[in-house]
Amino acid sequence: MCGIVGYVGRRPAQELLLQGLTKLEYRGRIRLFVRTLSDSPPGSARHLEKGDSIRAWVDIRRPEPVRTPGGFDQLGWARREGIHAFATCKNERLLNVTTAHISPRAWVDTARDRLSRSWRHVADPLNRAVTASMVLGDEGALDATTREEFRAAGLLHLLVVSGSQVAALIIGLRRAMPRPLRIRWAGCAVEGAVLLVYCLLAGAGDSIVRATVMALAFSVAVRADLHRGGANFLFASAIALLALRPLDALDPGAQMSFAATLALVAHAGGAARGLAARHVPGLLADVLAATVVASLAVAPLTLLHFHRFSLIALPANLLAAPLAVALLYASLATAVLDVFFAPLAPAGGWICGIVAEALRSLAHYAAANDPDWRGPAPPLALLIGLTGLAAGRGWSRRILPLSGLVASLSLSSLPRGDGRLHLWFLDVGQGDSVVIETPAGSAAVIDAGPSFERFDSGERVVGEALWRLGHRRVAFLGVTHRHNDHEGGAPFLARHFDPERVYVNGESKALRDFSPKIVRRGDAWILDGVTFRVLGPDSAWTLPRADENARSLVVEVSWGATSFLLMGDATRLTEGLLDIPRRRYDLVKVGHHGAATSSSERLVRDARPRLALISVGNRNRFAHPAGDVVARWAGAGALVWRTDIHRTLHVASDGKRIEWQ
Ligand SMILES: [Zn+2]
Ligand SMILES: [Zn+2]
Repeated sequence: MCGIVGYVGRRPAQELLLQGLTKLEYRGRIRLFVRTLSDSPPGSARHLEKGDSIRAWVDIRRPEPVRTPGGFDQLGWARREGIHAFATCKNERLLNVTTAHISPRAWVDTARDRLSRSWRHVADPLNRAVTASMVLGDEGALDATTREEFRAAGLLHLLVVSGSQVAALIIGLRRAMPRPLRIRWAGCAVEGAVLLVYCLLAGAGDSIVRATVMALAFSVAVRADLHRGGANFLFASAIALLALRPLDALDPGAQMSFAATLALVAHAGGAARGLAARHVPGLLADVLAATVVASLAVAPLTLLHFHRFSLIALPANLLAAPLAVALLYASLATAVLDVFFAPLAPAGGWICGIVAEALRSLAHYAAANDPDWRGPAPPLALLIGLTGLAAGRGWSRRILPLSGLVASLSLSSLPRGDGRLHLWFLDVGQGDSVVIETPAGSAAVIDAGPSFERFDSGERVVGEALWRLGHRRVAFLGVTHRHNDHEGGAPFLARHFDPERVYVNGESKALRDFSPKIVRRGDAWILDGVTFRVLGPDSAWTLPRADENARSLVVEVSWGATSFLLMGDATRLTEGLLDIPRRRYDLVKVGHHGAATSSSERLVRDARPRLALISVGNRNRFAHPAGDVVARWAGAGALVWRTDIHRTLHVASDGKRIEWQ
């Protein structure tokens, strides 16, 4: 699939969209996805280029609000980007280029292509991919393993074009300039021109534009002889940027770049002078000082937004920064050589290859040795307190942050429960996962969603949700059966959430290191007054050997007068053997994603729930849920909630009745 962002029509405020038969007035940007788009869509006279106007038949949907705690907030992101809708064009034949002239934005694309072509001199494709990604933010050729290693080593910011590259450019430029230029306005013009050209070539994305604007403000501040007032200039530019796009204040990337830049201006100069006094060469001192200051400034935000605290990130960045600067300059030099003095270009490519290789080895080694600490973020006040402590001078200024620190530490040691039982049926795609929070604030998980090579729901969905809800451990982790869509994410949770007990339905290879306990019908346990009862399977039942679904644990959760029935992937066969108490359940987690092989008439009649929850992936290949299963639950008076349509379901019980949203 190929993405296009643009305004609807040439004059966005006046365009109309048709939705069904209703005419809607539409303003703003739309992101359009086209399935397999070739360079020249049929029906168009020429290639599709940046800046072109197009006409297309599309399906439109609005961005969705976040429903899963810690999940991706598509609506918030789209608002920040000014995108009001997403659209899909099913076939490129439904798309037409309507402009006759190529826009100037296409020229920038041509220059960018020319630049990347010069890196053909870098022999190894992996090193070439790292170079393209680091210099132009072109991640197309980058493989998942390399990217993951850079992320685990805290070096991912090097692979996306951002403040790091801009900082490297401006540090290098200032070092290369003769002193008079460094303080004159002509020097400012040179810096401005280089930064603007680089910003355009690197795709002019949000983070590079922000970094460029702030670097230009810094460049101006220096010439205005405002060495001491540089921070004020930057504050002013940050405020101006926020005034243009106020929602950026909520964007983690923007927060990190503001924090890093402000810290750089406030502290990097002093740190570099300290290093220079210890005989570290000038350019290296600048790069190392900037790395330490920026890393320390973004660390609390990484903890807050990504629930990571990396011990290896700072040393890895200190080693990587000089290499990254060298790669940036070597690759730009290679491009210049390739155009003006081609015989020397292979030598440039050879140097790029060596430096990129060193960076990859560094990321690989650092990732392998990172303790991978994860956890919920400490209260915001703690972070603000620490930042205040670091920035303030003198005791009088420290009293406020210090009291915030003490307050947040004492608050975080109190039990968190709000006296209600919460169940979160998480949208893990095709799979199951329930997070349970007891009235006293303990957490437990039953099933953990699937895990694939590149996506582990245990980490990305269930773990994120637990951290966001403030849990660093779970009282127990239950896995109803061994299928990947239930068990896949469990090993991650077992590793990072230290469950006291792991409950399974039989031998489990994936969880054998965590001493799982096999439970059967009749087993029950109580957690903070909430009762968990296993209704099946029974050891005496004879079930077909190969039918793992039929062996799925069926668990009843009850608190006060409210009760919930979790069917796992149990089939009609097991439903027939179960003793379902005839009571009106508040909720049934429908068996086997709503497949026709579960949800017999008898079960539906006996359980008669208020809510029937079907945990199912959007357009899954099994065609779950079956239409008559949905109709059967609805016919018994249940409100049917589907995670493929309604996303995550949050149910809260006060012991008498339930509320949901
Ligand atoms: Zn399943
Ligand atoms: Zn299954």
